[in-house]
Amino acid sequence: GYGDHYTRQATSRPEAMDAFWMPFSANRQFKAEPRLLTGASGMFYRSVDGREILDATGGLWCCNAGHARPRIVDAVQQQIATLDFAPTFQMGHPLPFTLAERLVAIAPDHLNHVFFTNSGSESVDTALKIALAYHRARGEGHRTRLIGREKGYHGVGFGGISVGGLPNNRKFFGSLLPGVDHLRHTLDLERNAFSRGLPQHGAELAEDLERLVLLHDASTIAAVIVEPVAGSAGVVLPPVGYLQRLREICDKHGILLIFDEVITGFGRIGKAFAAERFGVMPDMITTAKGLTNGCVPMGAVFVSDGIHDAFMRGPDNMIELFHGYTYSGHPLACAAALATLDTYAEEGLFERAIELESYWADAMQALQGLPNVIDTRNLGLIGAIELASRPGAPGARAYDVFTRCFHREDLLIRVTGDVIALSPPLILDREHIDRIFRTLAHVIAETA
Ligand code: PLP
Repeated sequence: GYGDHYTRQATSRPEAMDAFWMPFSANRQFKAEPRLLTGASGMFYRSVDGREILDATGGLWCCNAGHARPRIVDAVQQQIATLDFAPTFQMGHPLPFTLAERLVAIAPDHLNHVFFTNSGSESVDTALKIALAYHRARGEGHRTRLIGREKGYHGVGFGGISVGGLPNNRKFFGSLLPGVDHLRHTLDLERNAFSRGLPQHGAELAEDLERLVLLHDASTIAAVIVEPVAGSAGVVLPPVGYLQRLREICDKHGILLIFDEVITGFGRIGKAFAAERFGVMPDMITTAKGLTNGCVPMGAVFVSDGIHDAFMRGPDNMIELFHGYTYSGHPLACAAALATLDTYAEEGLFERAIELESYWADAMQALQGLPNVIDTRNLGLIGAIELASRPGAPGARAYDVFTRCFHREDLLIRVTGDVIALSPPLILDREHIDRIFRTLAHVIAETA
């Protein structure tokens, strides 16, 4: 029957692999020696050759509740048979309204409105557009400049790569990048290597915003966007006091502050949002990933009352924001998100990263002294291990660690450059942590 045929297709190595142009991948290298996953449950993936792989990456920083959780599976299965799609342009269905109310209840107090998207990239572009339109609605249409930060990652839309600070994601796509500027990044191995939790040094780097205000004038600047904890650049933590200072400077100059919480949202550092963990309140928060536990694409932008209300002043038959996606508030995504929020709440998963934080930090710190390990960085259930690069071959050493972990040790980690990044599902327990770090210590030690 169809079922058998489908299962065979989904669980064995495909006959041909040429047509799929893989995202952010070395296509030819991968296709020569593929790493294929065919199943998932809880803390584990199943590989195409039948091995159980411990997932230390939460898929791609998104499966915060672990894989194939029954409540979420049921909700999505029921939803597709009940209402598969409904438009949300001048039409509606109940779920995105219900979901938005649930979401604002766990968000910082003044963020009471939610715009739905399908990804982190779309959430970022949406937030940037709202920032520009907000100033215009208030008669400050001259505020058009957007400020990002070096090493920042805000997805791959033209807005996101413009404020982003990863050279490879920008340099090939140059001419459309609009008027942007960038703060300096805060990574400082000389002063902060092997810090446990937040680095002590670097709050003064927030003053870089004052430099950009002097250069461009505050009246030209719409918003600053930063990741409270940067992930894709190889995990960069905010120095103690840095985000507070950034908030103060934004307030002083009427600049909006956007936190990109695509990876920090939904419990990664021990609270629903990093804003809460750090006690710094942004004007908007962009999210995706953990919102649906990764199982159906969805993103959400949380917007303050002040911003939202500025749009609601014209005639009430007027469309207030000319922006949206066919799939904004898609029924399957809403069903997945509602069941995901239930799972997080029932299992106390937003608190889990705090419960495990010191055990995790001890394990991270114990890597100090291994060959080639030049830094470890950790917060909540995030870990980064930076390796010295092989001369003339940046990234090669970490890539070898990654492939050895996968093929020989049944462990999935992620590497960017020579940084190993860990972001396990929040359901992990101490035995999983022990296994992850035992394996890493031994693979790092044997990888010259
Ligand atoms: N913003 C941040 C901080 C991210 O980490 C990511 C993805 O890793 C994105 C945006 C982009 O999300 P997506 O890949 O869903 O477009």
